[in-house]
Amino acid sequence: MKTTGKVTGIISNLVTVEVDGPVAQNEICFIQLDDAKLMAEVIKVNGNKASVQVYESTRGLQIGNPVEFQGYMLEVTLGPGLLSSNFDGLQNNLATMEGIFLKRGEYTKPLDESRRWAFEPLAKVGEQVVAADWLGEVKEGWLPHKIMVPFSFEGTYKVKSVAAQGEYLLNDTIAVLTNEAGEDVQVTMLQKWPVKVAIGGYADKPRPFRVMETGVRCIDTLNPIAEGGTGFIPGPFGCGKTVLQHALAEQAEADIIIMAACGERANEVVEIFTEFPELKDKHTGRSLMERTIIICNTSNMPVAAREASVYTAMTLGEYYRAMGMKVLLLADSTSRWAQALREMSNRLEELPGQDGFPVDLSAIIANFYARAGIVKLNNGATGSITFIGTVSPAGGNLKEPVTESTKKAARCFYGLSQNRADKKRYPAVDPVDSYSKYLEYPEIVAYLDEKVEKGWADKVTKTKYIIRKGKDAYEQINILGDDGVPVAYHEQYWKSELIDFVILQQDAFDEIDSSTPLERQKYMLDLILDICDRSFKFDDFEQCATYFKNIINICKQMNYSEFKSEAFNNYMEQLRKELAHE
Ligand code: ADP
Ligand code: MG
Repeated sequence: MKTTGKVTGIISNLVTVEVDGPVAQNEICFIQLDDAKLMAEVIKVNGNKASVQVYESTRGLQIGNPVEFQGYMLEVTLGPGLLSSNFDGLQNNLATMEGIFLKRGEYTKPLDESRRWAFEPLAKVGEQVVAADWLGEVKEGWLPHKIMVPFSFEGTYKVKSVAAQGEYLLNDTIAVLTNEAGEDVQVTMLQKWPVKVAIGGYADKPRPFRVMETGVRCIDTLNPIAEGGTGFIPGPFGCGKTVLQHALAEQAEADIIIMAACGERANEVVEIFTEFPELKDKHTGRSLMERTIIICNTSNMPVAAREASVYTAMTLGEYYRAMGMKVLLLADSTSRWAQALREMSNRLEELPGQDGFPVDLSAIIANFYARAGIVKLNNGATGSITFIGTVSPAGGNLKEPVTESTKKAARCFYGLSQNRADKKRYPAVDPVDSYSKYLEYPEIVAYLDEKVEKGWADKVTKTKYIIRKGKDAYEQINILGDDGVPVAYHEQYWKSELIDFVILQQDAFDEIDSSTPLERQKYMLDLILDICDRSFKFDDFEQCATYFKNIINICKQMNYSEFKSEAFNNYMEQLRKELAHE
């Protein structure tokens, strides 16, 4: 029997309910309001009083309205047909409704249950299987989508039957499994999973051991992100967070892109809806949406729905990871998620932490980031979720709690600098403050030795050293004046500028420059480091500046030309001549 209750108090979306039976933390309930049922989640239980967070506007709700508890947590529906979808945080399919907003109390089916899918069996009758093992496959667009033993199945099962090759509906039985007690259970192509619980079912979750190429030089060359790794992009408004995430979505070596768009304003989310379908898959030339899922939220949606969205996105990522896919999960911006946590915590009148955020903000963020990772599946295949979130610290203050907590959880830090954005030095990733902790992993260093060249990580360290020395020289020049320092200081400064203009700065809107394969990144870094290794004998700082500006111009032309094309080689020849009479 379901537990029921009555509304006893209402503060905005926080409703207190007197209950007549057991309720569980995070359990879902429905509150009757006229003809509508408002979905809500239990966030606190105390005796026979439950505090629930309503996913909808509570306008018109009154004391005494009936509540029915469901006995399950907020879950997502998993199955073929998720790709190309736009969902809200509760997995309402935004394509099937008018505008972006549903009427109150209205929920849509996330997947089209009338559509048939061409199923190919993979499991054999008599085989032993456990949760997450692959039973069959359908083609979702051009990508193989595995139909798995539901994640909620405990223990070992024996395959009693599996459907023959053919067309099936999502709710058709595609396999019958016999459990250890000898009972038969039916499996369909659909399954459900609570969003706040990580999907397991894999054999092992090692430390990330290989790099995910993104084509973005300031990431790949200087601060690589591992496949299954975590990173974050803090930056003030207008510094290029969204542009950088779009570049990653288009270019990174991933099979599936999941974008959690937690916008501040509705128009930022509309921007995602209009821009994402335009994005081109740089690997296939097809529309990126074919292998993308967007979860969107705006701050005018109720707080609990906003809080749920990042978990929904992560759970969808885990689903595809279990199929052996490389998932790139992006969230823009996680600060909106943290704000939702803050609103909920404040309404619950919890003892506030710093700036009013929940006291356990760091733990919440760390637990979320920990769900990313590369896993070895039971059948030996690997799957991964690489997670990169943006943070929008108010006033660009990196000491605020969300940035600080995220810094502890994420392994890569791509700090966007207002100063660089003001100078149009894009991407505005600060070369001195940013880092990738993966460069300290022996397995990643070994991977780069193999993939790029032996000793590559040392070259990266050397490059960063030149950048830092250039910054020091720049500060001295600023204090003492152009003539107040030896010419060697200028030379040092210009060498770091050469790295900045040719390696770090990258035009996200240029066909060629926007995406640089690793091989080309190595070629350019070698070229630039060779120049930095030379010592020049300039008569004065002006001569030094003129010389380097000329070299930078030539190298930039190279960046805009097809790699090793005639034009590229001509610029290379021009550069050689310049360097010959140094
Ligand atoms: P944010 O999301 O941080 O508010 P955006 O990503 O919207 O900022 O970027 C703001 C503007 O900065 C863009 O519209 C674009 O003009 C410029 N910009 C950012 N990154 C680049 C880049 N890599 N190349 C060229 N222009 C860029
Ligand atoms: Mg943005």
